[in-house]
Amino acid sequence: MIAIDGVSKWYGAFQVLTDCTTRVSKGEVVVVCGPSGSGKSTLIKCVNALEPFQKGQISVDGTKVKDRSTNLPKLRSRVGMVFQHFELFPHLSITDNLTIAQRKVLGRSGEDAKRRGLDLLARVGLSAHAEKFPGQLSGGQQQRVAIARALAMNPVVMLFDEPTSALDPEMVGEVLDVMVELARDGMTMMVVTHEMGFARKVADRVIFMDRGEIVEDATKDDFFGQPRSPRAQQFLSKIL
Ligand code: ATP
Ligand code: MG
Repeated sequence: MIAIDGVSKWYGAFQVLTDCTTRVSKGEVVVVCGPSGSGKSTLIKCVNALEPFQKGQISVDGTKVKDRSTNLPKLRSRVGMVFQHFELFPHLSITDNLTIAQRKVLGRSGEDAKRRGLDLLARVGLSAHAEKFPGQLSGGQQQRVAIARALAMNPVVMLFDEPTSALDPEMVGEVLDVMVELARDGMTMMVVTHEMGFARKVADRVIFMDRGEIVEDATKDDFFGQPRSPRAQQFLSKIL
């Protein structure tokens, strides 16, 4: 579903990604972890072309990200993305947040978009809040709306970049629960997170990055049981 091949990226003279290669198969959940500044966010942003890269190639469901003939808005509409800071439109109601891209990007009718949006709002347990505005919801609730909003576009893959790290501790669980359910429903997911409980529960593979390189790409059992690189061992000993 996602093929990342030899991707390197520089910010000026600073190399932020070095020859990154990995695959995410359909239905697979891959957790990306590693120290701050190791390039996790940059790599995940390259997948939906939010960041350009100078070398290598990424393809999503067979569509090359770096290709002049690729329709980027169309590609992005198939890749759901949820960031650390829930970026809901503050001036729009929850329902409007859930429907605007469906209508503007996918051309769905208002009625279809609303039906799909409300279905997903129910799925994340927030049906009662459809007419509220983002500022009236807690951080955890807003992040669940952000997940529903991404799902409303019928993405073929979902990317998450530390979706729980800006939340108060008591709200982390409710967001992770939604993500666990999504994983169990078979969604293809690439998730940057330090929530190793989540990784243990649903990850198929874990990628560990350090200084722009993928230094470990292993099954969950191998990663937690016998990480090969000293860097990953050190990281795990601190985080677990
Ligand atoms: P964190 O865990 O803190 O989120 P990360 O692994 O997601 O870190 P990135 O945000 O991908 O790391 O950043 C990787 C490196 O690239 C860092 O050294 C960062 O300072 C640098 N970097 C990120 N964005 C830019 C930019 N726009 N210009 C220059 N350097 C950047
Ligand atoms: Mg980051």
